[in-house]
Amino acid sequence: MSTPLRLDPELRKHLLRWYAAVKRPLPWRTLRDPYPIWVSEVMSQQTRVETVIPYWERWMQRFPTVEALASSPLDDVLHLWAGLGYYSRARNLHRGACAIVEQLGGKVPETVEGLRTLPGVGEYTAAAIASIAYGAPVSVVDGNVERVVCRWLRLEHDARASTGRAAVRAAAQEALDPLQPGDFNQAMMELGATVCTPRNPRCVVCPVAPWCRGRAAGDAERFPVLRPKAPSQVSIWWGVVARAEDGRVLMGRRVEGGLLGGLWEPPLLTATCDVAAPDLRAAGIDGLPAGEGTAFTHVFSHRRWVVVPVFVNRAILPERLEGYTELGWFDRAGLDALARSRLANKLLASQGEGHQSLLHGRFEVPSRRPRKERP
Ligand code: SF4
Repeated sequence: MSTPLRLDPELRKHLLRWYAAVKRPLPWRTLRDPYPIWVSEVMSQQTRVETVIPYWERWMQRFPTVEALASSPLDDVLHLWAGLGYYSRARNLHRGACAIVEQLGGKVPETVEGLRTLPGVGEYTAAAIASIAYGAPVSVVDGNVERVVCRWLRLEHDARASTGRAAVRAAAQEALDPLQPGDFNQAMMELGATVCTPRNPRCVVCPVAPWCRGRAAGDAERFPVLRPKAPSQVSIWWGVVARAEDGRVLMGRRVEGGLLGGLWEPPLLTATCDVAAPDLRAAGIDGLPAGEGTAFTHVFSHRRWVVVPVFVNRAILPERLEGYTELGWFDRAGLDALARSRLANKLLASQGEGHQSLLHGRFEVPSRRPRKERP
């Protein structure tokens, strides 16, 4: 068991000096307004910062204030978010903005407790906004900070278990510089992201190397100690790329609430390993089957979906499909205006014999020659 952190005040100085010298020029780092910081923190969850920057810039142009976000239709918000994944984040930002405008007079809460009342704002995000925007002396613990702290202290706890998380939080809080909590938190995150990386930490350039037990023992990479994750659930789907006689493609809007809720996609039908072809008619899709494309895997945080594209030509618009609140035909321009997930894009881009990608190249009308139905 590691002994508690006894912090040399020099460590904070070294870390903050290093951060001031090397920090990446992220566009939200010069701001103290809680709204853009909130947006940046939510976008950065599970997403690389290089990916976030253009989305954040487009977002701040389109929704520059909480009021602008609250007064915009959710469809516009989801459309701008398309491609970032984990769409519940966008819905929560929109709901949070509405709550701030309607219930809090348009002011983003200042405390961790107040921030945590916003939808989708957990301990990490609340602490980040409170410390960076308002200077609250609360530590932020993300995966980067967790790694740094576990290596500093050679923490043997399972970092995913509650005791391990509590030990990391306590050490991070003790280390925090109460005079510059926002900068200190960002410095810790930056250190984990750029120097104390999961593999090959660059201890020779690390500002806290003199105080690091992992470096001294020569086994820093052994930390954090993590027990294996539960295996992800796998489901299999038929992804139905159905086209009308005029070439437009059938899109459905998923019911709100679940994975990818509210987004548009070619309809997905549940499949099993042992069924050779989907029963489209039973599912409510009427048309000429036109073969299958190559199956692909789409990975969510704890799930994997294997999707087999199936093509249908000269289809008739179904009255309803389970799991979808709206259905419609869309041409290229119509598709571009829809809030779609990456999964939908993969499906639209899939190709098969006699079927071209609907996202690239020409949007062709399918052959009128009826195809032989699969047995
Ligand atoms: Fe990480 Fe090495 Fe710095 Fe320790 S000295 S915090 S292991 S980069």
